[in-house]
Amino acid sequence: MSALINTSYLLACFLMIVSIRSLAAPHTARRGNILGMAGMALAVAAAVMALRLPNYPLVVLIIILGAAVGTYSALKVKITALPQMIAAFNGLGGLAAVCIALSEVISSSPKNLDNTIGMIIGGLAFSGSFVAFAKLQGLITAKSVNFPLQYPLNAALFISVIALSVWFIAEPKQTLFFALTALVLILGFLLILPIGGADMPVVISLLNGGSGWAAVGIGLSLDNSLLIIIGSVVGAGGSILAYIMIKAMNRSLLNILTGGFSAHTAATPADETRTARAGAPEDAAFIMENAAKIIIVPGFGMAAAQAQHAVKTMAALLRDKYRVEVKFAIHPVAGRMPGHMNVLLAEAGIDYADIYEMADINNEFASADVAYVIGANDITNPSAKNDTSSPLYGMPVLDVAKAKTVFFVKRSLGGGYSGVDNPLFYAPNTIMLYGDARDITEKIVKVLEN
Ligand code: NAP
Repeated sequence: MSALINTSYLLACFLMIVSIRSLAAPHTARRGNILGMAGMALAVAAAVMALRLPNYPLVVLIIILGAAVGTYSALKVKITALPQMIAAFNGLGGLAAVCIALSEVISSSPKNLDNTIGMIIGGLAFSGSFVAFAKLQGLITAKSVNFPLQYPLNAALFISVIALSVWFIAEPKQTLFFALTALVLILGFLLILPIGGADMPVVISLLNGGSGWAAVGIGLSLDNSLLIIIGSVVGAGGSILAYIMIKAMNRSLLNILTGGFSAHTAATPADETRTARAGAPEDAAFIMENAAKIIIVPGFGMAAAQAQHAVKTMAALLRDKYRVEVKFAIHPVAGRMPGHMNVLLAEAGIDYADIYEMADINNEFASADVAYVIGANDITNPSAKNDTSSPLYGMPVLDVAKAKTVFFVKRSLGGGYSGVDNPLFYAPNTIMLYGDARDITEKIVKVLEN
């Protein structure tokens, strides 16, 4: 029996690793999802067999209930609400680790170091994810929450958690473990409070990694290879994703944990001697239908305006009716969550083959007639390259200015996520198309159609 269970665990791990690999490319992502579901089903079946429980029907009922809640939320959730759904699921992973650790301490030998570490990381992931969920869902303010002595209090709590853990390992009393659990939950809550809503994707990746590492701790304590392997994959995946996002935004972890741009930078006031040239959708349509090559650069504003379907229609018209070459350029941190633009463009049915990552298309702007920048700002800001005093300095950006004409579709000259002024709005080859991204694009479509 145990050989069968271990083989099932191994196969489940294999399926999940192949699943993650497949999720890396749009054309294999569907297969990745199916492999992941198969791996999870096998893992749950093997875990239930391994437990040798007295009441199997009850376990099956609980699994069915869990699956029903999961299926319902996956079908109902809007794409824009995916970050909070991930936060909620992370939180549940962390909570599971805390519950297992507590049950181990209550029922058997309560001294295990791995169990304690699993509980600490799981507890931080649980209460931290709870705050992240509440911020993203609008249940509490999404802004950075600060109060006097916040950081000394967090430091004191952190030191107390370490001290209590050492005490518990030396003298394994249940009451000490309960106190430690309470402190960890409070610390997780307070650590995430100062983080601004827009930084939440990074935090959620970190917390996701945390719930994975918590599973590793619990897996070591229970001697469960499935938890150890899958926990390591989730832990490493979440941590690497957070690192990639932090790098791509040219930020530091400390900057994010202490409130980020929202706490430290203000929008640069526009230089009043500069003027930005405004255009009408009709002008844009005329220039675009006479172009040979157009690169569309989507950003957060396209998501906010839900303009992806209009963009797809515009691209199809330009290609089919006017024989223009149309490509899409995706910056790694465009929008507000990893893959945000890819998901929206896929939802609109835009061909994956037309969508290029920044590194693969950046040198094509020089040969493009038009860069159609729709609701994007920071990811095109040249200060990231040439202004050492800019908070964006060092972040790789899309070289849209190299195109013959740059259209910026946005409602004002205002800043984006970072609040930093974008000098490109005032460049001689830039034309501002002021308005809602969807509205402007639909107007261009109307002109192109006629
Ligand atoms: P951005 O710099 O935030 O700029 C978006 C622009 O869209 C704004 O300047 C806004 O200008 C415009 N906009 C908003 N609603 C609009 C609407 N309905 N119609 C037309 N325009 C609209 O976005 P981005 O260029 O995509 O850059 C992403 C930023 O988010 C980066 O700074 C990145 O570091 C950060 N970030 C990304 C992630 C991620 O995982 N992708 C995570 C956290 C943070 P107006 O107000 O003038 O319209």
